[in-house]
Amino acid sequence: MDELAEGLLGGDRTALARAITLVESRREADAPAARALVERVLPHTGGAHRVAISGVPGAGKSTLIEALGLQLVERGHRVAVLAIDPSSTLSGGSILGDKSRMEQLARRPEAFLRPSPRAATLGGVAKRTREAMLLLEAAGHDVVLVETVGVGQSETAARGLVDTFVVLLLPGAGDELQGIKKGILEVADVLAVNKADGEREALARAAAGDHAAALRYLSARDAEWTPRTLTCSATTGAGIEDLWEAARAHRQALLDAGVLEARRRAQAKEWMWSLVEERRVAEFRDSKAVAESLPGALERLESGVSDAATEADALLDAYRRA
Ligand code: GDP
Repeated sequence: MDELAEGLLGGDRTALARAITLVESRREADAPAARALVERVLPHTGGAHRVAISGVPGAGKSTLIEALGLQLVERGHRVAVLAIDPSSTLSGGSILGDKSRMEQLARRPEAFLRPSPRAATLGGVAKRTREAMLLLEAAGHDVVLVETVGVGQSETAARGLVDTFVVLLLPGAGDELQGIKKGILEVADVLAVNKADGEREALARAAAGDHAAALRYLSARDAEWTPRTLTCSATTGAGIEDLWEAARAHRQALLDAGVLEARRRAQAKEWMWSLVEERRVAEFRDSKAVAESLPGALERLESGVSDAATEADALLDAYRRA
């Protein structure tokens, strides 16, 4: 473990990969070593700009992350890419992980790409993503890009991980296809309408204008930052520098207002509670008393002879009595 920590802190990629595998492990036996490792490197974490790149499948996330990542390594940054992929938990398949992606960036020694771990629950994926992020920071990465599909839970999980939330939109697609607009406006620090190239450029500009107007009608979300709207093209590279400039400006605004660290601490507290909840629910489901009572409860709900609250009380009683 010490060797692993030393290697990782020294920037050894093999040690880093092994360390991430350890924290992603689902074996109970690995948990103490994983915890000890994270604790050991914790003083060396926190140095990265943590940025989520969110959007519906096809919005251009991986193309953009590759283009942005390459620009950043050219400028001397060390870039890590993580993914929070809800599909691997829902269907066993993967929206983000399975295609051959970001090949050029993956070949760069200054970059480190890690696909979404497979885990039984999204909470499990998210827990491991946070720990992987800390290890990547300890290994000296100063930019962590978290790719996430812009739907529900995975977006919420990403929100609890990052400093800056970038939402990629498509030009001209209906808002209903891109998630509820209001929801997007509430979480986005930077809104980028991608694929602003060729015939779609004008459409993209119009969409960006609409979103900017919609943002102005919302009352200010944070005192320290007004979300920015822009257009970009992940394939031509146009606007990507502006996108990064906006992300940096956002982080700077948080620093200037003195709220970045407070936010991160608040995120850590929320994570603690979500981990407690997850662990407790798992213990509850796995307990003998609940395992024995559950089929009956589900059957009664199925046949409509009982109600959810009654069955929840009965399960909790059975658990407590055991
Ligand atoms: P993801 O599912 O959000 O990761 O989207 P991808 O990065 O895989 O992109 C989906 C498709 O859109 C691919 O065929 C890309 O080549 C294409 N694409 C991505 N960004 C752009 C862009 O800026 N302009 C154009 N014209 N196509 C793009």
